[in-house]
Amino acid sequence: VVLVTASVREKRTAEGWQQGRQKARAELLQLRRRLRSITGDKRVRVCGRPGRREDGSVTVRLTDGVMTPGGPQRVAGLGGLFICGSVWVCPSCSRKIAAGRAGEIERVIAYYATRGGTADLITLTMRHHRGDRLKTCWDAVSVAWRAVTSCRAWRDDRKRLEMAGYVRAVEITVGWRNGWHVHAHVVLIFEGRPALVDRRAMAEGMFDRWSAALVSSGFEAPDRDNHGLDVQHLDWSAAHGKGFESIRDIALYVAKGLSLEATMGAHKTAKNGNRTMMQLLRDAVTPAELTLADGTVAETLDDTARELWLEYERASKGRKQLTWSRGLRAKAQLEEELSDQELAEAELEGETIAVIPAESFDQIEGRVAELLDAAESGGAAGAHEWLRQAGVRWYKPTGLTDSQVVEWSA
Ligand SMILES: [Zn+2]
Repeated sequence: VVLVTASVREKRTAEGWQQGRQKARAELLQLRRRLRSITGDKRVRVCGRPGRREDGSVTVRLTDGVMTPGGPQRVAGLGGLFICGSVWVCPSCSRKIAAGRAGEIERVIAYYATRGGTADLITLTMRHHRGDRLKTCWDAVSVAWRAVTSCRAWRDDRKRLEMAGYVRAVEITVGWRNGWHVHAHVVLIFEGRPALVDRRAMAEGMFDRWSAALVSSGFEAPDRDNHGLDVQHLDWSAAHGKGFESIRDIALYVAKGLSLEATMGAHKTAKNGNRTMMQLLRDAVTPAELTLADGTVAETLDDTARELWLEYERASKGRKQLTWSRGLRAKAQLEEELSDQELAEAELEGETIAVIPAESFDQIEGRVAELLDAAESGGAAGAHEWLRQAGVRWYKPTGLTDSQVVEWSA
């Protein structure tokens, strides 16, 4: 009846992981660059531009033995860039923020699971129509969530089922037929393992309050048994042998579902004709080639996608993407929550292997993914060789002044 449904995690080689990561990085960097020409957000427009170091230079950094799902790997990154920290709009920052948040959610779930607790993953959706504005839908969802959690029944359920707390995330998709789709994903974390019938009843009570509040906001009541409510009870024993090897594994699955997918849906393709925000962004900024009847090729951009994207930018401004119930982090012994900006700005530790002046960076900015790939496969020497071939001025770092001209080929 009840167990988490997940596809068995794909087994990839370490090399496969590295290649997959590099490909995804190249795409994100390209999207971020293209987004600059359409975004209405001033910070997003300069994300990834030089500006955090006094002289405007950019550093290439390399770290060995970074733990990834594919095992320890050499990872390269850039330092000295301005970082926008936008969890909703920036393809690059949102990914870093989501990865940081997913790690924390994983720790909280694993903390309780290893002490005899469990968790439910609940998704609440709404009914909407093409033509409903995103802001209107989103505001209604915020009101509906308050209705779920600010009443006696909620407090009683929490106490009776010994709920430790919850983490909530909002996800946005957009459909060709039905327009904007706003839904809430919530992980309820329990200290013990209450009976499934009680957990189901609690979820249904949440849905009833959710639905009533949406109706008060002028929306149709969602259909509970037809995508309105989805409940996945985590069942550790049933999950075992389904591709999950440990509690950490399953905690990671839930954490990813909540954090990574909610953040622009970077890791999935929305179904039933819906697009994730990452797909929408791609459609909005990627030129398509159109061959005309006379054989000439024209480049076209999807104006509708661009307008939807800009509506999303405006509607998401100032909203919180992930909410923790009060006290949960402290109880699970997590340290103080970092802001989106702090998570996005976190730089690789590791060693600086090259310093690139701002004007050189301008010349290679469109190709930095290649530079990072070269550093990861060939180490410092690989990065240096790539820079030499690119023909731009760069420096080797020194302990004293941080930089000193050593090579310059034009
Ligand atoms: Zn950014």
